[in-house]
Amino acid sequence: EKQKLKSIKTVRSITTDGIEVELLANIGSSKDLTQALDQNAYGVGLFRTEVLFLDRYEFPSEEEQFLEYKKVLESFKDKPVIIRTLDVGGDKLLPYLKLPAESNPALGNRGARLSLSHLDIFKIQIRALLRASHYGYLKVMFPMISTKDEFMKLQKIVHQVEKEFKENKILYKPFELGIMIEIPSAAIIADQLASVCDFFSIGTNDLIQYTFAADRLNANLDYLNQPFHPSILRLIHMVTKAAKAHGKKTSVCGEMASDPLGACLLIGLGVDELSMTSSLIPGVKNKILQHNHKQLVLLAEKLLDAQNEKEVLKTLQKKM
Ligand code: PEP
Ligand code: MG
Repeated sequence: EKQKLKSIKTVRSITTDGIEVELLANIGSSKDLTQALDQNAYGVGLFRTEVLFLDRYEFPSEEEQFLEYKKVLESFKDKPVIIRTLDVGGDKLLPYLKLPAESNPALGNRGARLSLSHLDIFKIQIRALLRASHYGYLKVMFPMISTKDEFMKLQKIVHQVEKEFKENKILYKPFELGIMIEIPSAAIIADQLASVCDFFSIGTNDLIQYTFAADRLNANLDYLNQPFHPSILRLIHMVTKAAKAHGKKTSVCGEMASDPLGACLLIGLGVDELSMTSSLIPGVKNKILQHNHKQLVLLAEKLLDAQNEKEVLKTLQKKM
């Protein structure tokens, strides 16, 4: 089995009826690049930039950020690299950024919300990203978007920074701008968001947490961590349908994408790309190579009407 997974390393991830599902890497820093390249990841589907901000005493400067983003972009040459803007707040706190205590951090000022309340931090990151855009194929996405307004406000800042670059003749390439779909409100208005965003990346980890209203770090509520529950399948299906109607692509970068059964189900639900920890790419690819895209779609659509997660899992295990 190990030998087999090794042998498919350079094989492209294509279903038996010829649909390619690109498998990308989730990375936390340029330190993860070696593994991502070694596993032949198609690109980077999620660069969690907060890793660069955690465990230190002050903000990384624009220059420092630029160098890190550039390194990642250069390693993947013309392949896409999706860099997520800072996703802190909640349980991920920066020692040098004093924020008021919140009684409910998971529902608090985090991700895109924090970017909106601290535009200075956001702008520095966007400047670093724009400078780096010149060195590869950059896409940028915002985490924790819950309304179209939030996206539009942050997009406006990006356009302002671009204008400054143009005026000062600083080199950059305009990049595609997408969002994480990880809050149910965003999934529900995916059709409206698809008309303004360039792409979606579904964060199943948080989407599950917020859909079930169950803290993902609370071990006592582990039974509500149900990626295969019909409520989650329906939300994901809504999102991919909305994206397709607007000619946009949907990827998944939450943990569900790295589970071979989960990956097949996601493909059946209309997801175009999957992003995961590099070491899990071969296992997912192995499964994709054995399945027919059309049949996965039929199966997934049937499972939308299942009564619970157990029923979904039982059917999937039987069919795969
Ligand atoms: C997610 O929420 O699924 C996700 C990929 O983001 P993170 O795990 O960093 O919150
Ligand atoms: Mg998340």
